[in-house]
This record gives sequence, C-alpha cells and structure tokens, in this order.
Amino acid sequence: MSDVLVLVDHFDGALRKVTPELLAAASRIGNPVAVVVGAPGTAEALAPALAEAGAATVYAAESAEATQYLVTPQVAALAAAAAATSPAAILLAATIDGREIAGRLAVRLDSGVISDAVDVDADAVATQSVFGGSYTVRSKVSRGTPIISIRANSIEGSAPAAAGTVTPLEFSVDAAASATIVAVHTEPAGDRPDLGAASVVVSGGRGVGSAENFTVVEALADALGGAVGASRAAVDSGYYPHQFQVGQTGTTVSPQVYVALGISGAIQHRAGMQTSKTIVAVNKDSDAPIFEISDFGVVGDLFDVAPQLTQAVQARKG
Ligand SMILES: Cc1cc2nc3c(=O)[nH]c(=O)nc-3n(C[C@H](O)[C@H](O)[C@H](O)COP(=O)(O)OP(=O)(O)OC[C@H]3O[C@@H](n4cnc5c(N)ncnc54)[C@H](O)[C@@H]3O)c2cc1C
Repeated sequence: MSDVLVLVDHFDGALRKVTPELLAAASRIGNPVAVVVGAPGTAEALAPALAEAGAATVYAAESAEATQYLVTPQVAALAAAAAATSPAAILLAATIDGREIAGRLAVRLDSGVISDAVDVDADAVATQSVFGGSYTVRSKVSRGTPIISIRANSIEGSAPAAAGTVTPLEFSVDAAASATIVAVHTEPAGDRPDLGAASVVVSGGRGVGSAENFTVVEALADALGGAVGASRAAVDSGYYPHQFQVGQTGTTVSPQVYVALGISGAIQHRAGMQTSKTIVAVNKDSDAPIFEISDFGVVGDLFDVAPQLTQAVQARKG
C-alpha cells in the first residue's frame, strides 16, 4: 500500500483538531504518514497522539530555523518526504497557510492541486463545494502527486491507531527565498474554540444592531460550547473584530451546527458556511435567503429567540 503524506497542523505542543481528520482521509487512500515540521523535539512529543490518530510513520522535519520562516519549511519538508516515499497523495488543512503550502508544493513537484476539499475517497477523488455551495464538484489530479487541502470538520470517521514510529527527515530551507518571522502576536483565544475548527459556530449579522448586543450571540455560543462568528456587515459596522468574519473574504467554517442570527444569507456569507452539517437561522424576514439553506429556521426577532434558546440549552445541561 502506498504512503499518503499528511502535514501535521499543530500549535503550542498539541495537534489541531483537523490533523486526525486528515489522517482519517489518508487512511482511505493508503498508509498514513505524518510530517511534523517544528523545532527539535516537536515530533517526539506529538507522536503518541499521531499514533492514536492512525499515523504509521511520523517524519520529524526539525530544525531551529523551521520556526523562523513562513511556510517554506513546510514546503521543503513535504518535498523531501515526497522524494523519500513517492506518496499516493499529500493532504493538508485548508487553512490560509495550508493553501499557500499546497500551491508552492504543487509548483515544486510539478503536480496538480485541489483546494478546499470537503471529502476525499479511496482513489484520491476530491469533493469540493463551489460557487457559494451552489455546485458540488468531484475531481481528481491527473498530473504528478495529488496535493489536496481539506476543510476542518469535513471528514467523517477516524483511522485505526498505528505505530507512529518517529523517523528523522533531512530537509533544507532556502533562506533567500523565505520570509522571516520577526514577531509573533497571538490573539487572546479566550475560552472559546478556534472558529475554523469549532463543532458549533454561532454567528451574528447586521441584525444584531451593535457591538454591545453581540453579548446575545456570545451567550448562545457559550451555552453550546461553540465559537462566535460574524457576517461582514457586522464586522464592517464595528460590531465584532475582523478575525471572526465568516465567508468568502473571511474564515470558511464547516461545523456540525451553524447558527445564523440576523444574517440575510448573501452568497459571499454562504460561501463560508454552506457546508455546515446543520444550519439554524433566526431572521425576522421570512424571505431572507438564509432560509433557503437552513435545516431549521425561526422567523422572529433574534432578541426574543436567542436568549430563550440559550436558557433552554443551559437548562438541559442542568
Ligand atoms: C467581494 C465581496 C466579499 C464579501 N465577503 C463577505 C464575507 O466574507 N462574509 C460576509 O458575511 N459577507 C461578505 N460580503 C458581504 C455580503 O454581500 C453581504 O453584504 C453581507 O453578508 C450581509 O451581512 P448581513 O447578512 O449581516 O447583513 P444584511 O444583509 O443587512 O442582513 C441583516 C439581516 O438581519 C435581519 N434582522 C434585522 N434585525 C433582526 C432581528 N432583530 N432579529 C432577526 N433578524 C433581524 C434582517 O431581516 C436581514 O435579513 C462580501 C461582499 C463582497 C462584494
């Protein structure tokens, strides 16, 4: 069985939630091999979790400079791993970095790339949801090694646990072609899950009316253990910070549950949330386009409905 490389998405000594999902997707195609890029010691620390998530081998692409440059270390490490294993496919998270790494790697390996897949099958045929979710496309790379970036929360199931044997990987980064990281500013994450990977997202739109009113959105998100999102109109109006914008020019989310409060459902918003498994909308306009894609819709004032929903969830939790 051929190897399938997975670029490990990790932060602060822990796997990001998308990594086991990528390993699950890899196990459909072949033998999952994790590639960890980081400072010395990173792979050894992550190996037990990677083994549990199905990685047969864990390539340790480690050096002091691996954390000094933007994306080029990951590209160099994956290219080195591909040269060593001739993989059947290379899978990465469809994050901003993941998409850039995929594009650069595709040039390096003279291979085709598929971005933002929401599923992948045993033949490395990828499914994408395009044009704001209006079309579902299935496609396959026909040149070189398929490089596929996959959205968080898209892959069902998990890979069986495997050995997770750590193997050093030689790689070298071209400093002249790299952007050096001069400072890192970590946004305070608070207690809420990361928007891109959260299982539940509660988003507010222009209908929320003000920054102060966003506490209604936050209260429901907290009751559900979810992340808070916002439409661009809410962001542009200064109700909520830009890093929480969902949509074409914001974050793409694909949670189990997406709750839209006071959001009309413009195509650019839908592009970032349409693949959510269950969509719940609260809008006082029964003709709002968001209802066309909702599984559950409430025609009503969000300031009546959302607090009641929050209370009901809290009551259930006891
Ligand atoms: C190039 C480009 C990129 C874009 N990228 C994005 C993007 O990434 N993300 C994004 O979201 N948008 C994006 N947009 C903007 C998009 O076109 C819409 O303008 C935006 O999504 C509208 O946000 P909204 O639904 O919050 O506001 P509106 O369209 O104004 O809708 C507000 C809704 O709230 C309802 N409402 C009002 N008060 C209440 C209440 N009390 N209770 C219940 N319902 C209420 C109204 O009935 C209405 O349906 C982009 C646009 C362009 C041109």
